[in-house]
Amino acid sequence: MIPGARLILLGRQGAGKGTQCVRLSRHFVVPHISTGDMLRAAVREGTELGVMAKRVMDEGGLVGDEIMVGLVRERLSQPDAVGRGYILDGFPRTVPQAMALDDISADRPIDVVIDLDVPRDMVLSRLSARRVCRDCGTNYVATGAETLPWICEVCGGDVMQRDDDTPEAITHRLDLYEEQTEPLIEYYRLQGRLAVIDGVAPPNEVFKRLTLAVESGRRAG
Ligand code: ADP
Ligand code: ZN
Repeated sequence: MIPGARLILLGRQGAGKGTQCVRLSRHFVVPHISTGDMLRAAVREGTELGVMAKRVMDEGGLVGDEIMVGLVRERLSQPDAVGRGYILDGFPRTVPQAMALDDISADRPIDVVIDLDVPRDMVLSRLSARRVCRDCGTNYVATGAETLPWICEVCGGDVMQRDDDTPEAITHRLDLYEEQTEPLIEYYRLQGRLAVIDGVAPPNEVFKRLTLAVESGRRAG
């Protein structure tokens, strides 16, 4: 049996985290826990959280730490995550979130924190061409030649541009990443749990680098 894994993926918007997380999740047979997907589901359901989150997300801002920590604490207590582990995508995003996660995962620590590194100018062009299935979250790249409405190959859902993939919101998110999330790279480096992976390569090659980083992170304990 393949052992599970407990992983955190850091990296700029558009670095390819979503795509790689889906593959890692299949490979290690652990849930892919994306806080962005959780919030977008709440928006679709029209819950109180969703109404609040939509305002913040459309501007490219960050939802409050307390709310996010509560959501993740609850999700990580589910049997699948407790039993096999998880891949966290989009959390932690601030130092207070990382400190809360240290506490939540104290009994079963993270194997490795991966920084999927792609330079800022490169992610900008990737993001403006990004299209996403609103139902299953599969990512696509727009070429301008597709027939509309664009239907997801995986689930038949609508493929759309995210409301927060506008140039203004993208710039704001990348600024926030540098201010709030980049300090986490140092935070985990000091804990000796960081692996930096160069994300500028074809998806298969990046995936190979990621699985190798997980194996060596596990061995290091
Ligand atoms: P991206 O990485 O492209 O910003 P995500 O899908 O990870 O996309 O997140 C979308 C939005 O959801 C973020 O811009 C933010 O508003 C909100 N969000 C997601 N995760 C968090 C978090 N851990 N803390 C605060 N806000 C979050
Ligand atoms: Zn789909």
